Amino acid sequence: MKILFIGLGHMGSGMAANLARAGHDVIAHDLSDAAVQRAVEAGCRAADGLAGAAGEAEAVISMLPAGRHVRDVYLGEAGIATRARQGTLFIDCSTIDGDSAIAVGEGAKARGFAFVDAPVSGGTAAAEAGTLTFMVGGSTADFERAKEVLGAMGKNIFHAGGVGAGQAAKICNNMLLAISMIGTCEAFNLAEKLGLDAQTFFDISSKASGQCWSMTSYCPAPGPVPGAPSNRDYQPGFAAAMMLKDLRLAHNAAEKAKAATPLGTLSESLYTMMEAAGTDDLDFSGVMKLIRGDLKA
Ligand code: NAD
Repeated sequence: MKILFIGLGHMGSGMAANLARAGHDVIAHDLSDAAVQRAVEAGCRAADGLAGAAGEAEAVISMLPAGRHVRDVYLGEAGIATRARQGTLFIDCSTIDGDSAIAVGEGAKARGFAFVDAPVSGGTAAAEAGTLTFMVGGSTADFERAKEVLGAMGKNIFHAGGVGAGQAAKICNNMLLAISMIGTCEAFNLAEKLGLDAQTFFDISSKASGQCWSMTSYCPAPGPVPGAPSNRDYQPGFAAAMMLKDLRLAHNAAEKAKAATPLGTLSESLYTMMEAAGTDDLDFSGVMKLIRGDLKA
């Protein structure tokens, strides 16, 4: 399939390379020439202007920083929706606010295009390995079309509901992840103060009811999980800044939906303290430093 890929940053570069590896004809576009050059080295070809590339693509995939970039790329004055062929499938994999996803979906539909939001779980390692989890919002027919393409970049592809439901699933999942990570940090910190070493507490709790992904895959206390960022002084991984972005999206969505998220809000304030301390480039499990009192905002 001819696929126009827009946004070849930390995530998009690995994803585009996997599409090319799977035999797709991937046309690469990014504001950064260096990013496009890297994509070409990975088997993609450089877009010769966005207009021409949009005109020949059968599907467009975007992996961009925020809602405003996605709105602009698709619906802006010189956006994809003014250039693409009728019926082209647009797949936005960025993590953005649900309102932007719905607006782009409606705008695309009104102009004769199919749109799904398909945010991902899994960081750069999963993007490179082609093992991302996709949470897709869109019609059943559009989901089935998207699935054919997403399969080259991920191993779990879920249909969450209509347009915007992918973003809803993503922010709810990540809010839960933040809460479970902070809870895990508190438990390991208290265990240590009560005289239990990290390995002993891990052996017990990972087989008891406190067990969770934050403990068994990303243990914030160094030692028990050798591959976890805690063993490399919290180098990411999934940066605290990214987690804070998702918590802010969850906060705004919760306010609009009038849903109580007290622990989500508390988590957001702890990650905001990491940002204020200039340590939001650490992995999100680095919130352990804050709980231990090692960070000064
Ligand atoms: P990034 O900043 O590394 O990459 C974004 C790319 O988009 C950059 O190369 C930038 O030049 C390009 N870009 C920006 N505006 C553009 C435009 N108008 N036209 C063309 N290119 C444009 O970001 P990332 O880490 O790859 O994240 C991308 C998205 O994936 C974000 O929404 C993020 O929340 C989400 N995400 C990231 C991770 C992660 O671990 N990095 C994990 C899951 C989801």
